[in-house]
Amino acid sequence: MLADKIDKPGSISLNKIATDRTGGLVKEKAQKRLASLCEELAALQELMYAASMNSLLVVMQGRDTSGKDGSTDDVGGAMNPVGIRSASFKVPTPLEAAHDFLWRIHAEAPAKGEVVFFNRSHYEDVLVTRVHDLVPKKVWEKRYDDIRAFEQMLAENGTLIVKIYLHISRDEQKERLLARESTPEKAWKLNPEDWKERAFWDQYTDAYEDAIGKCAAPRAPWYVIPADHKWFRNLALAEILVEILRPHKKGWMVKLDALEKTQRAALQQLRDAGTIESPKAKK
Ligand code: AMP
Ligand code: MG
Repeated sequence: MLADKIDKPGSISLNKIATDRTGGLVKEKAQKRLASLCEELAALQELMYAASMNSLLVVMQGRDTSGKDGSTDDVGGAMNPVGIRSASFKVPTPLEAAHDFLWRIHAEAPAKGEVVFFNRSHYEDVLVTRVHDLVPKKVWEKRYDDIRAFEQMLAENGTLIVKIYLHISRDEQKERLLARESTPEKAWKLNPEDWKERAFWDQYTDAYEDAIGKCAAPRAPWYVIPADHKWFRNLALAEILVEILRPHKKGWMVKLDALEKTQRAALQQLRDAGTIESPKAKK
């Protein structure tokens, strides 16, 4: 596995995980591998959609410029748009802020058969909220328990959950922010706030380490993806998604086979009764 998987609670140290890992791969080879993983991903997604037993929730977290949008586009783009969407979570609106922090999140959770990418998520409520003291510590501290219970409930309802932290270095972020200033096509992403947030780098590191360490669970694992190289990041994400879906293929096929049998039997009944045409009948 190209990313670090964390699936049980414990303390983690992000500074010990390299941001520029390439797994001994070169870009060209990685892109070929990505193409074949994306093919498998698309096929698995179609089966999940058809069987409608499970859904897939991909939580994308990471600092500004870490590639939450880019990787959703690069990897999610391989799937059939009929069964996939993304949801972005910004500063809560007055209506959202008047509810509990999970209210807006739950409303966007994937339905059976669906894939949903979260661009930011309920984790903002223990990240930005904590770093900027938007609520007292005694309030955000309790949210780790709420998040664990919420994700457990989604998992029990058939949602497959993958939580991604796109891990970039401080230098890489600076380069990407500067690129936004000098590239017209990227200028729409320019946001002076990003420079201000950057000043809180270490506080965000602490908040992420707690979010990941406290809310990692077997059915809601975190993956830290080294994301300085976009091609490596995409490959690692595609690999994670294929690996989470693949074990369920058999179960989906059992349901699809049973569905096919039921449909065939229904057709045969109608044909026997002469209600509908049979394939060989002359007009
Ligand atoms: P972006 O995703 O870069 O377009 O920016 C969205 C902004 O909304 C980020 O600065 C987030 O930190 C902020 N945001 C998202 N969720 C929350 C939240 N629950 N409370 C406060 N700010 C939030
Ligand atoms: Mg931003």
